[in-house]
Amino acid sequence: MLSILNRLNNPALKNIKKYESIIKKINALEAHYEKMSDSELRNMTFLFKEDLKNGKKFPQILPDAFAVVREASKRVLNMRHFDVQLMGGLALAEGNIAEMPTGEGKTLVASLPAYARALEGKGVHIITVNEYLAKRDFDQIGKIHDFLGLTIGLNLPLMDQTEKQQAYNSDITYGVGTEFGFDYLRDNMVESISQKVQRPFNFAIIDEVDSVLIDEAKTPLIIAGQTPANTELHRIASILASRFKVGEDFDFDEETKATSLTDKGIEKVEAAFGVENLYELEHQTLYHYVINAVRAHVIFKRDIDYIIEEGKILLVDMFTGRTMEGRTLSDGLHQAIEAKENLENTLENKAMSQVTIQNYFRMYPMLCGMTGTAKTQEKEFREVYNMDVVQIPTNKPRARVDMPDEVYVTADQKYKALVKEVESKHKVGQPVLIGTTSILQSEDAAGYLREANLPFQLLNAKSVEQEVHLISQAGQKGQITIATNMAGRGTDIVLGEGVAEIGGLHVIGTEKHENRRIDNQLRGRSGRQGDPGSTQFLISLEDDMFRRFAKDDIEKFKKKMSFDESGKILNKNVNELIERTQRIVEGSHFSMREYNLKLDDVINEQRKIVFDLRDRLLSGHEFTAVLKSMLKGSTEYQIFKLLPEDFTEDDIKLLKRSLEELYSQPVIIPNEKPTRKQIITLADKCVKEGLDMASDYENDENFLKIFTRASVSQIDAMWVKNLESMTHLKEGIGLRHYQQEDPMRIYQREGLELFTRNFENFRYQVVSVTLKTMRQLAARKKEEN
Ligand code: ADP
Ligand code: MG
Repeated sequence: MLSILNRLNNPALKNIKKYESIIKKINALEAHYEKMSDSELRNMTFLFKEDLKNGKKFPQILPDAFAVVREASKRVLNMRHFDVQLMGGLALAEGNIAEMPTGEGKTLVASLPAYARALEGKGVHIITVNEYLAKRDFDQIGKIHDFLGLTIGLNLPLMDQTEKQQAYNSDITYGVGTEFGFDYLRDNMVESISQKVQRPFNFAIIDEVDSVLIDEAKTPLIIAGQTPANTELHRIASILASRFKVGEDFDFDEETKATSLTDKGIEKVEAAFGVENLYELEHQTLYHYVINAVRAHVIFKRDIDYIIEEGKILLVDMFTGRTMEGRTLSDGLHQAIEAKENLENTLENKAMSQVTIQNYFRMYPMLCGMTGTAKTQEKEFREVYNMDVVQIPTNKPRARVDMPDEVYVTADQKYKALVKEVESKHKVGQPVLIGTTSILQSEDAAGYLREANLPFQLLNAKSVEQEVHLISQAGQKGQITIATNMAGRGTDIVLGEGVAEIGGLHVIGTEKHENRRIDNQLRGRSGRQGDPGSTQFLISLEDDMFRRFAKDDIEKFKKKMSFDESGKILNKNVNELIERTQRIVEGSHFSMREYNLKLDDVINEQRKIVFDLRDRLLSGHEFTAVLKSMLKGSTEYQIFKLLPEDFTEDDIKLLKRSLEELYSQPVIIPNEKPTRKQIITLADKCVKEGLDMASDYENDENFLKIFTRASVSQIDAMWVKNLESMTHLKEGIGLRHYQQEDPMRIYQREGLELFTRNFENFRYQVVSVTLKTMRQLAARKKEEN
């Protein structure tokens, strides 16, 4: 153990010390469980469940539960959890992030907390980054849990409702994070409670947690309904935008990607469309089209952000370099890109429901995760998800050598150095993995290697199928593989025969990523489980990151730099420049995510209210209670809205009309100058009458069915409309020039106003129609008698 501690450069050893004493216990239990028969071991699951039911606390059973899983794994998979894997498991079971490098066996680590937490019977979700891994882990680790008598499920996108319900009702459910999020959204669009597939959230284990919660979390999950695009408007907006000049007609911030029209740009739009004042509310749509067209031109680059295949735009995930199947940009942005590329417009997506990855996962009472790289983003994990990063020591000492970065003046010099380096490694048969930050860059690198007659495998978005296979082969003798940074994440690269003797896998990064974490991921491809290996970054001052984020610094630096004949920069402080730039970019991306999350929090509050009410409406048995709260709420709101402190006779008249519509019966006000108190008493009486009438219907199946269907469809329509108006509000805030007030505050305030208006409208409509219907039914009954 001491040697493990020495290997760890982590000052916070408090957790580790605590874990070590638990590991001692687990190890001491090994002989005991080894003696058990298979069925005795399986019976432990039952006993643990009983213990928990009888009030035993989770930490009390943890050592035994872990010891049982280890024993089961030995019998079923012939793998015995290493002590450091137990340590990772303990960190996870407590809701932390276990940072463990590639190849340490994180899949097996997850088997421990998954089992322990599943004993409570409330379900455990294991989240992976792609379906391939979900299936792989379900098949492999599932064997352990199955052996121990737990049920396991696999949640896949195309499953039907029954299959999904079965997957979710299992003790442990495997799947991709986005699919869990989509299921949540769909569960809140169903027509009856029985169609829901998810149970209440309990515990989730997220593999490659940084990828899921940070990289993937940039785009929200949206369930979209489709509407035809206004092709003509997109076309004109695109032509207009193509003539716009940055800094003149529009402002564009490279860092935040924020785009807004200047006064000059606005004038041009007004002239082109023949409108007087673009600021007016009725022209908000027009503004929306133009700004989308501008974004399509300046933010989205062909073959980097998207590729065109069979006349369709396919978005590229900048982290994996893979196309994102089925993902489209919503609110017309996708169609704006189509217009820019002269493609036929597809249908526009309009959000019917949406949630961010962050806010989806924050609904779990407890969340944990594992990855090779989390430490650099520790602060974000703590602030946003309340998870601590615990660095777990490696099983074997690391033998990988990370060479210092080499920086070249031009990109051409960089690629020439790349060729030289690849040639020297290839000569002795050492495998080389070249990591790039985009497909375009992959192809650049490939071009240089081709010229030098070096044989290589190129992985990019156009060869998805073989990705996993090719990456897994990257450690074979003589292999040269070019891949985007994150391609095939989670795939193990095993060294071929004789490769360890010649230095293991050599990884070359051809550009620093905007995030150090991603660079570390790339390095982690080499040197797994104590294997030999080496990594090297070759970069140039012409790289994208410098161009975008450190233009001035680079200019200054160039004046005093020195370099050799190959163009390699000799100044030591160039490394500081790189590191500083990365830190700045990371910081700005973090603030941007924080800002977006704050924006989303506004909608999130609304979503909770709406989804909660929707569930109550759907359930049907709560008819009187729900109607009561809606009727009372609506009445109070009408009085609040229409009756100011010093109300006049006119105000009373308005209120009377509104309440009459709400109760669908005359409201008789006894005197000409009623007090507020009298009005409230009167309204209370009307509310009570309405509720008395409703009590006749609380067991009327037919009536309830109609009420449920009508009110649910109303709330859905309201939600769609609300999402749309919130989006426009967000855009509009960029348009309006506020000098004094923080835009976030405006968004929060006006967002609340918008929602209140939409929600109250909905509530008012539902109550008034329901009361009207009941009165009609009552009248008809009376006639019949
Ligand atoms: P990671 O996700 O940490 O990169 P994986 O879970 O993919 O690593 O595991 C890497 C390899 O190590 C797999 O082939 C796995 O079967 C193997 N492995 C993991 N744990 C053990 C163990 N305790 N004993 C033997 N092999 C193991
Ligand atoms: Mg893994």
